[in-house]
Amino acid sequence: MVAKGDMLYTWTNNADIAKSAECGGAVTGLLHFALENKMVDGVLAVKKGVDLYDAVPVVITDPEELNKTAGSLHTGTLLLSKLVATYLEDMKDKKIAMAVKGCDLMGLIELARRDAVNLDNILLIGLNCGGTVSPVTARKMIKEKFGINPDDVVKEEIDKGQFIVITKDGEHKGISIDDLEEEDYGRRSNCRRCLYKVPREADLACGNWGVIGDKAGRATFVEVCSDKGSDLMAKAMAAGAIATEPANPKGIEIRGKVEGAMKKLGQKWRDRDFSALNEDLWGTIERETGRCVKCYSCIDQCPVCFTDPEQFQKDSRMIRRGGLPVDPMFHLRRFAHISDTCVNCGQCEELCPMEIPLALFSHAIRTEGDLLFEPKLGKAPYTN
Ligand SMILES: Cc1cc2nc3c(=O)[nH]c(=O)nc-3n(C[C@H](O)[C@H](O)[C@H](O)COP(=O)(O)OP(=O)(O)OC[C@H]3O[C@@H](n4cnc5c(N)ncnc54)[C@H](O)[C@@H]3O)c2cc1C
Repeated sequence: MVAKGDMLYTWTNNADIAKSAECGGAVTGLLHFALENKMVDGVLAVKKGVDLYDAVPVVITDPEELNKTAGSLHTGTLLLSKLVATYLEDMKDKKIAMAVKGCDLMGLIELARRDAVNLDNILLIGLNCGGTVSPVTARKMIKEKFGINPDDVVKEEIDKGQFIVITKDGEHKGISIDDLEEEDYGRRSNCRRCLYKVPREADLACGNWGVIGDKAGRATFVEVCSDKGSDLMAKAMAAGAIATEPANPKGIEIRGKVEGAMKKLGQKWRDRDFSALNEDLWGTIERETGRCVKCYSCIDQCPVCFTDPEQFQKDSRMIRRGGLPVDPMFHLRRFAHISDTCVNCGQCEELCPMEIPLALFSHAIRTEGDLLFEPKLGKAPYTN
């Protein structure tokens, strides 16, 4: 019997999955079970592409293909949410399962509020997330700070506050993330500001925080967050696909403390980033967005913005067609549209070829809006 609110150490009984999994393979084991038993028609997950720095989204319909997706890619900065609405149109009435970080989930919730996805059809296996590192920064950081050729790295991990790399020769090297971030390496700036570390609006929230004792590194801490989640866990346990034991009470306490500390750190980064921005708010926005080449990447992956760039160019009365530098109204209009539901996923900034800190601007506007205009509304079910 599994119930909402249960906290369990969980691991897969499938040896192949366990071999490539991050922490015992509960996530891949559950996805495998759901697909094999036709609880879902497909799984949207992430697999390693040409190298460690290349995270590729993939739709899988054959359970045997799922072990390709096991393992955590901390340089996987992609957002899965809009892919569901944009590319899985033909699966709209089918059921899918997804492993989702907090930003993937917040994006999906916003898409559902716009009727662009149907959450009833999606089984959500949440992944706790302390943040991701941009692949470009990761390569630079590994070369400059670790003194290691990034192409020699076969595995990276984030553990106990360190970014750790393992090379093909078996060398392990870890550097404190705080130290890396003081020098502007480390996690993406939107991830540093994120407060949504344990995705409890998913059906299950899975992570390594709080797994102690002999299960450390070999099991995942699963918090059961919905009836759909408890149903999946109960069926997978009964079939022997996964094994569980109650989470150690000390582990539960540690997990709570780490989550609290990470939220405090996120708040510190908000204070730091937003204060620096406010020193010359308008000047900074004007100067930075002045470099825009109107490639529309910021719109392309944004989970709260739907517009057809072609139509936008043709019909806008505020933004002249063609011609650079861009009219300031292009970004002002965009901010006005998105910033009361911006989920700080960072895609606009990550994809911007001109490296404009767009996520910082819209996150600052959203945060200010929540604080000053809608403090009691509690608009979104998550805390981003
Ligand atoms: C980027 C990232 C950061 C994380 N940070 C923390 C943390 O700070 N604290 C914590 O408690 N747990 C964190 N986790 C979760 C933890 O690393 C394990 O994924 C979790 O314990 C499940 O382990 P497993 O062996 O059951 O997963 P596996 O069976 O190995 O499955 C992992 C799943 O993650 C998916 N995945 C891998 N990379 C990404 C990505 N970049 N984006 C979306 N999906 C991805 C894979 O497709 C796969 O479905 C993080 C995970 C990721 C992906």
